Amino acid sequence: MSAAESGSRLRDAVAELVELDVAPIVQAGDPVLRHGALPFDGQLDDAELTRLIELMTRTMRAAPGVGLAAPQIGLPLAIAVIEDPGPTDPEVAEARERDQYPFRVLVNPAYEAVGDERAWFYEGCLSVQGWAGVVGRARAVHLTGLDEYGVVLDEEVTGWPARIVQHETDHLLGVLYIDRAETRSLATGAAAAHWANDPHPHAAARALGFELD
Ligand code: ZN
Repeated sequence: MSAAESGSRLRDAVAELVELDVAPIVQAGDPVLRHGALPFDGQLDDAELTRLIELMTRTMRAAPGVGLAAPQIGLPLAIAVIEDPGPTDPEVAEARERDQYPFRVLVNPAYEAVGDERAWFYEGCLSVQGWAGVVGRARAVHLTGLDEYGVVLDEEVTGWPARIVQHETDHLLGVLYIDRAETRSLATGAAAAHWANDPHPHAAARALGFELD
């Protein structure tokens, strides 16, 4: 397919989706989650981009989730939205370095680890519904890319927001958290809720038999 054809197909898909209140979230096993997303380079005009970001935001908040990447609504485009209201449990907040993180848009994001400190926590994904797993990730990352207005991003992100940035950027590369998870930590149903509510996965590591390093 030519670039012009794939561009017009993408615009048609966006035009249809933005009419929805909330977009259906694609689940693991759908190839769109496994193909890298195309860099955004003006395939949508400003109005179309704004409406797409609004749809992604409504969808993320309704889920609810703390991030959503365009492939998760079936669009192979390197755009993600992030927003974390923060945990209600102060012990969780402290253990995970997780606080409220204001809404933002990442366009064509990339990250690199800063230092070699890693953090191990349970995380989940709206595209792997019902499951949670422990992923060791860089505690801090250098984030580059653009925002929705084309302003260049070049900053360091630490703690739980760094985890969200890594998770969402990975989506744009066709990577799911389960690819990086400790497979013995994977949990669903009541076990997922139980372990994911624990501030730190020390007890899960002992009970399920996986390492945190
Ligand atoms: Zn996800």
